Amino acid sequence: MSELMEMLTRRGYFWQSFEIYGGMAGFVDYGPLGNALRRKIEDIWRKHFVIRERAVEIDTPTVCVEEVFIASGHVSCFTDVAIECESCGRVFRADHYIKEVLGIEIEPTIETVKEIIDEYDLKCVCGGRFREPFLFNLMFSTKIGPGKGKMGYLRPETAQGIFIDFRRLLEYFRHKLPFGVAQIGRAYRNEISPRQGVVRLREFNQAELEYFVHPKEKRHENFERYANVKVKLLDKNDKPHEVTLREAVERGIICHELMAYFIGKTREFLLEVGVDESKLRFRQHKDDERAHYAIDCWDAEVLTSYGWIEIVGIADRTDYDLKKHMEHSGEDLRVFVQFERPIRVKKRKIVPNMKKLGPIYRAKAKEIAKKLEELEVDDYVDSVTVEVDGEKIEISREFFEIEEVEEEIHGEKIVPHVIEPSFGLDRITFTVLEHNFDKDVVEGEERRVLRLKRWIAPIPVAVLPLLSREPFISKAKEIVEMLRNEGIYTEYDDSGSIGRRYRRFDEIGTPFCITVDHQTFEDSTVTIRDRDTTKQVRVKIEELPNVLKELLSSERDIEEFGEIFRS
Ligand code: AMP
Repeated sequence: MSELMEMLTRRGYFWQSFEIYGGMAGFVDYGPLGNALRRKIEDIWRKHFVIRERAVEIDTPTVCVEEVFIASGHVSCFTDVAIECESCGRVFRADHYIKEVLGIEIEPTIETVKEIIDEYDLKCVCGGRFREPFLFNLMFSTKIGPGKGKMGYLRPETAQGIFIDFRRLLEYFRHKLPFGVAQIGRAYRNEISPRQGVVRLREFNQAELEYFVHPKEKRHENFERYANVKVKLLDKNDKPHEVTLREAVERGIICHELMAYFIGKTREFLLEVGVDESKLRFRQHKDDERAHYAIDCWDAEVLTSYGWIEIVGIADRTDYDLKKHMEHSGEDLRVFVQFERPIRVKKRKIVPNMKKLGPIYRAKAKEIAKKLEELEVDDYVDSVTVEVDGEKIEISREFFEIEEVEEEIHGEKIVPHVIEPSFGLDRITFTVLEHNFDKDVVEGEERRVLRLKRWIAPIPVAVLPLLSREPFISKAKEIVEMLRNEGIYTEYDDSGSIGRRYRRFDEIGTPFCITVDHQTFEDSTVTIRDRDTTKQVRVKIEELPNVLKELLSSERDIEEFGEIFRS
């Protein structure tokens, strides 16, 4: 792990943020290679979760007015229990500290933490006593505008921007469910004591899909695609299962087909970016662990040097968020869903008695009558209340009759439910690096090799002149220019022996090195060296762009493309 981290820093994957000012935990800079890798992972995510779905991607502000998070419940519920040392003043996230020091997993409430501190006489690492545990809200707050300003928060998830725009999105999708809306961007959480490098950050990158469905139709038309895929599941009672997704739904391990569909899709995506399947499982949240908005949640977890960590959370958020935003904003965020066939229903409607309303309510009588006609009453009522010009007026039974009528109903208004696969891109990027970092022996020498999938390697191709002198240099540069013009990101390197240069590119995960050697000047060929096998083949320079494009988008063997030069 430390060897990997050293390499990632030295070679430009990740850097400590604010390094020259002493750094700050919970922030990371993506160097040129890390940035390129994360962007490629994002593009593959987009392919799976936007392009291959009935889905779109939007981009909303990271600073939000406080109303958003009052409505969503984050202002009151997005908290962790913290403990502060009386002597040294250090603050810890209580559940993490208790797990680390006592090895116990707890339900993180103030009461439980208090009990544990008393029972085990839990002290700070410095030996000091802890003050009373307290709730710490993880959102960064800010003021929008000068002077007193308006209270705002940096978003702790990208999702809320999507819920806020729901009415517009519904129009965009021509009022038809299901549809998905994705957002890729920064999220901020003021984590209490982040000490796990890129795994726990205070500013991180999320890719989220909010998939809106009819509450009674939590299915997906492409479920069959994943139905027979076997997955490793750990249910909320810690019981492991290794079953197909179809079986998991049939046996009630996974609550519905749509959840199973997104588990299958998440697995497919994670394998495509290079997560090791033997270190991947899906774990269901326990009842006391779920976020305030979810009724069910499955995390994709991976085994890393930090232990099992969550990299994706797939939650059934029901209609929680839309309902909350309806309540707080007053906007109607329901969807009109047409029935397959109209149905006839009996209704009790009010028939106003104008003769009686007129003399009593005078100018308002007409408006009252109109409001009364809109009402539907279930059974016998003594009086009803209507609102006219902002005034609530109680109308007693003597002013109206109740009549039973039969009506044809064409549909109903419902609040959609939302299933949310939420991906932490930083954790995925780190996992991909850790799962693919390897060592082997080449020509009697140990080498470090990053076996990244070819299609996500930050530097897919390097062109190397065998000798760092003319005419090798000019020829190599000419090839670099050609490949760049073909849209292939290519590096040039002529410093050090050819062996050292190969090792350098192996270490950062470059799948193919092109070498200009003596024979290049005889027959216009170069060698392509495969990072994983170190095999080399000769190909014609003019064929190079197409051969490389084919190789970079597949896992085909280089031997299919040219005569073996060295293996
Ligand atoms: P959550 O909304 O907590 O389920 O988070 C969704 C995803 O965001 C998780 O699966 C993580 O991959 C990622 N994530 C959450 N918190 C952090 C953090 N502090 N640092 C980095 N990634 C995070």
